[in-house]
Amino acid sequence: MKKSNILVIGSLNMDWIIEVDHTPIAGETLLGHFAKEVPGGKGANQAYAASSLGGHVTMLGAVGKDPSGEKLLQSLQKAGVNTSPIQANSETGSGMAIIYLNKMGNNSIVVLPNANNTVTKEVIMAHDELFKIADIIMLQLEIPLEAVYEAAALAHKYHKTIILNPAPAISHLPNEILSKIDYITPNETELSTLTNQPVTTVDDAIIAAQTLLLSGVKHVITTLGEKGAILVTLEEARHFPALSVKAIDTTAAGDSFNGALAVYLAEGKSIEEAIVFGNQVAAITVTREGAQSSIPFREEILPTTENL
Ligand code: AMP
Repeated sequence: MKKSNILVIGSLNMDWIIEVDHTPIAGETLLGHFAKEVPGGKGANQAYAASSLGGHVTMLGAVGKDPSGEKLLQSLQKAGVNTSPIQANSETGSGMAIIYLNKMGNNSIVVLPNANNTVTKEVIMAHDELFKIADIIMLQLEIPLEAVYEAAALAHKYHKTIILNPAPAISHLPNEILSKIDYITPNETELSTLTNQPVTTVDDAIIAAQTLLLSGVKHVITTLGEKGAILVTLEEARHFPALSVKAIDTTAAGDSFNGALAVYLAEGKSIEEAIVFGNQVAAITVTREGAQSSIPFREEILPTTENL
């Protein structure tokens, strides 16, 4: 089977997961149960997922010249990601995230970008060659926006397939960028913020996604947590229910879903097949703790019998 090359451009963060009974509210001091250091960052998680699931993956990003940076690179290398374009910057520390994980398995996250902010438009332009040899480009919004825009422009120039996971949430993306995107993959909150419309039900998500299509983006794939995902294009609106599992930690659910999408598209499968696969992968991810540590390998995914 011919596999296409996947280029992920984005963030690497060392995640500090702090277990708490409930998410602290403003003014509250809370005793946590324990803290754990695990490799994360949306870009790195998606690269890790795509590689673990069988993709040929290269990542462009930045870490600090510090122990966290070394661990972040090692984790990706262990999963088979080509990390050679990732810069180690001595001026700033590696990106980090503080994650409060509550008893319900839900998390609240604060991210300190640090080295991720050094991935500028100029860095993207200096890696023009990577875009030429890639087939699928995966982007998120944890590096400077101007770098994301430049990456989308370069990928478009070379007629590559672009997947944009618009996370963390942002209230506006220019139509000039959206029109270059083949697959945009917001979650409910991100879709709501991006379109300035409420999104709580599947029907809300379809209506908001249809608004986004007006910008020229070709496929809107919205992840809906335990409700699964929906695909909205000019031709169809289709709901793909999630698998029924006991979620203990939803960290990296969306990232593993995105990695799975990229791998199936890289293998020439349809977007519908890719979403079913994404739901299968993400359902395993939510049953395990951590970010990269919770992402399954390809062998763990059972072939689906669903009739597409
Ligand atoms: P989210 O980013 O929370 O929308 O989740 C991304 C994907 O993870 C969803 O589209 C589902 O495939 C999967 N997922 C998230 N939460 C659950 C859950 N509680 N049970 C099963 N799958 C889930």
